[in-house]
Amino acid sequence: MHREMETSYSQLLHAIGEDTSREGLVDTPKRAAAAFRFLNGGYHQSLESVLNNAVFEADTQDMVIVKNVELYSLCEHHLLPFIGKCHVGYLPKGKVIGLSKVARIVEMYARRLQIQERLTKQIADAIQTAVSPSGVAVVVEAKHLCMMMRGVEKQNSVMTTSSMLGLFRDRISTRSEFLDLINR
Ligand SMILES: [Zn+2]
Repeated sequence: MHREMETSYSQLLHAIGEDTSREGLVDTPKRAAAAFRFLNGGYHQSLESVLNNAVFEADTQDMVIVKNVELYSLCEHHLLPFIGKCHVGYLPKGKVIGLSKVARIVEMYARRLQIQERLTKQIADAIQTAVSPSGVAVVVEAKHLCMMMRGVEKQNSVMTTSSMLGLFRDRISTRSEFLDLINR
């Protein structure tokens, strides 16, 4: 499997007209394959393994917000990065998750080939599954290198996607509170 990926990267380099035997490139297929495996490591993780039982009883019902979680993913259309940040909010109903776990959930789904819309939804669904809250809100803001480096070359466009579940979907005041807090 590793060998196969290295061979593929060699072929790619050859196809763009590179001399794969020159010094700077000798180990590139190996390094590129390792990097690509790392960036797609989320396929080998599950919500269960990521949570690792870090779900705790708590009788608060106040909104929990985790803001500015860094996000690095690869678009499935061009295999180019999209990078940005993710904001997660939920309304606990007896259970909360460890703060770092929110970041780990984001990472697990980001390290798969993605479109931003699906990534956003998957994060929201995972929080819903993990703690069954009264509502979940996820907003992702990202810049896509496939937009910035090629094609239309829109260097400064930021794509924003959101997924609202439960009370964040049904109650405008709850949604507004969340959006105010993340934009502060
Ligand atoms: Zn793309």
